[in-house]
Amino acid sequence: MTMKVQLNGIAYYLLKDALDSLNEGLFKYREGINGNKKAFKFSILHVARFIELICKYIIANVHPILIYKNAFSETYVKDQKTITFNEAINFIQNIHGEELDSASKTFSEDIKYLKNIRNKISHHFIHTDEAEDASNILGGIIETIYYILYHSEEKDIIINGINPENKEVFDNLVNTYKAKIAVALEQVDILNEGELIYYCPVCGNKTFILNNTKFKCTFCDEEEKAYKCTLGWCCGEALIPESEAIAWNSEYDDYVCEYCYDAFNHKANSD
Ligand SMILES: [Zn+2]
Ligand SMILES: [Zn+2]
Repeated sequence: MTMKVQLNGIAYYLLKDALDSLNEGLFKYREGINGNKKAFKFSILHVARFIELICKYIIANVHPILIYKNAFSETYVKDQKTITFNEAINFIQNIHGEELDSASKTFSEDIKYLKNIRNKISHHFIHTDEAEDASNILGGIIETIYYILYHSEEKDIIINGINPENKEVFDNLVNTYKAKIAVALEQVDILNEGELIYYCPVCGNKTFILNNTKFKCTFCDEEEKAYKCTLGWCCGEALIPESEAIAWNSEYDDYVCEYCYDAFNHKANSD
C-alpha cells in the first residue's frame, strides 16, 4: 500500500482492517451479481464493519491515544477499552462539523446517515437480495466516507486500498450512485413546488419532497406520512414528514416542525 500520509501504528492497522472489510464486501457484492443472491447480505455486513473501522482510523490518525476510552485518565491504565462507534462518530462531527455546517448541512447529515445505516445493518434491519438495493447502499456508504475523508485531506486513501480485482466493481458502484443522485436531484427540481426539501431518512439524500399527500424520496422511493405543523409560527403551517415531526399533543395526534418547536421553547424560556 502506498500512501502519502505518515501513519502511526494503530491508525495503520485500523486502516488496513477497514480496507480488508471493504474489499471483502466488494468481493461478496461481486458474488451477488454473479448469481449468489445471498452474498448481498454479507457484502453489506462487511461494509458496516468498514464504516466503523474507517471512523476509528480517522480518530487514531489525529492521535492514537484518542482511540482509548481512558485517554484522559490520571494514571496509566493497562488493557484499555477503545471508544465505541457512536463516540467515534461524535468526535468526527465535533472536529469537522462546525466549519463545514456553516457552508452546508451535508456534513452532519452524512455523519447521521453513516450512523443510521451502520446501526440498521448491525441490527439486521436491512435484508436484501436485490442487486439494486445493495448497489444503492454500498454506493451511498462509499460516497459518504469519501466525502468525510476528503475533509481530512486523505481522499485517495480508499482508492489506493482497493484490490485490483475489485476496482471495476468499486468504480461502477460509485459512478452508478453519482448518476442516480444527479437524476434524483433533477427530479426534485422538476417536482417540488416551493416546499421545504428534507433529507431522506433512509438514503440520507436531500431528495425527500411532498408528493400529493405524502413525502416521497426521488432517490430510493421511501415514503412517509405528511403532518401539518400545529403551531405554524415559523413555517406557515407547513406539511412535515413523519420522521421530522415532533409530537405536540399525543391526545389529538398533533405535531409541530422543528423551527416552531425551537421558537416555542425560546419563548417559553424568555417569558
Ligand atoms: Zn431516499
Ligand atoms: Zn412549524
